[in-house]
Amino acid sequence: MRIQKLLRILLGLEETRVLDVNFDDVGVVVDVAPTWRLPRCSGCGNAAPGYDCLRARRWRHLDLAGMLLRLRYDTRRVNCPSCGVKVEQLPWAEVGSWFTRPFEDHVGYLAQRCDRTAIKSMMRVAWDTVGAIIQRVVGRRRDRDPLDGLTQIGVDELSYRRHHEYITVVVDHRRGHVVWARPGKNADTLKAFFDELGPKRCAKLEAITIDMSAAYIKAVTECSPQAQLIFDRFHVQRLAQDAVDEVRRDEVRAADSAEERKELKGTRWPLLKSFWNLSMFDSLRLAALQRENKRLYRAYLLKDSLVRVLDCKDEWLARTKLDQWIRWARRSRLEPFKRVAATIQQHTEGILAYVTSGLSNGRTEGLNGKTRTLTRRAYGFHSAHGLIALIMLCCAGIHLDPVHHWPGSTH
Ligand SMILES: [Zn+2]
Repeated sequence: MRIQKLLRILLGLEETRVLDVNFDDVGVVVDVAPTWRLPRCSGCGNAAPGYDCLRARRWRHLDLAGMLLRLRYDTRRVNCPSCGVKVEQLPWAEVGSWFTRPFEDHVGYLAQRCDRTAIKSMMRVAWDTVGAIIQRVVGRRRDRDPLDGLTQIGVDELSYRRHHEYITVVVDHRRGHVVWARPGKNADTLKAFFDELGPKRCAKLEAITIDMSAAYIKAVTECSPQAQLIFDRFHVQRLAQDAVDEVRRDEVRAADSAEERKELKGTRWPLLKSFWNLSMFDSLRLAALQRENKRLYRAYLLKDSLVRVLDCKDEWLARTKLDQWIRWARRSRLEPFKRVAATIQQHTEGILAYVTSGLSNGRTEGLNGKTRTLTRRAYGFHSAHGLIALIMLCCAGIHLDPVHHWPGSTH
């Protein structure tokens, strides 16, 4: 068998001829060319007259028996009648990429499953390069229009870089996929989503779950006024959790002795748990709290009973209980809870809409947890676009297989 044929089969690249092969200091260099003779324009895909030649460009392909393998080719530029001067289309890689498609797909497969160090060392690429590769893989593999057919969506903000920066993420509740993400968390960020959706598809939205941020409320009421606005129950619960923590910190500050302070500090986690999830040890701590610190215990009860209100399945019952809860919180003599009561009163309808619809961002909670884990893995990407691409790769329903091929699988 001739070496060119052997390599053509080994490379497994469509429409690619092998011209020659050599070694350099770091690995194998294979000279290749497209099987078509006339160059094709990368803008429109049509054959076009040549313009000039860019010397000896190289592309990384999958390693050959553990050895770095690169393709080498003198890329031509074409003078296309419709697109102007453009670099030619190549069968093995996308324009602007120095990696073959199988190499990129393999990185994508790994990025869905492995941590940063494993990908970097296995594929011998920089982490930022991985970010750029994922963006191209997502571009190739996503649904053609992920915004089609949306009726129930959730909007959430996601912080990264230690809460210094944010992205806004839109989830399709029915498919359980992330469909859109953009840097920022203000009204204009979300409006950009509605702009992309267009008025026709905006009018088809039935329900939107969001947190109680004024920016998101503004964008939703302006762009999709017919959709039911539902405040995410987990954000509502978090208000009460934060209030408990605030009361606890006030109590720590006001404590008389170091021992009492230590005791109060130890209640932080038990206080955030639900009554049913307490361990024996936590229950004892809370029982002690009930005796010794009435304010903090009251805060705990308020937090826990708000969860019970949101658990109600009946709208009338939920409305009555929420009303009682607001009055109780107001009388509680706990400033943080008085503030929560005011916020909840202001947003009552949107909070009760959860009870009737059962929709919350928690419905896609698995997704929520996953996106949060990804922000940690994306640490080190220089732009938010790397993080967004990673979220799309892992949470937009993209299925990738490891890149395997067989003799005869290409021509
Ligand atoms: Zn063209």
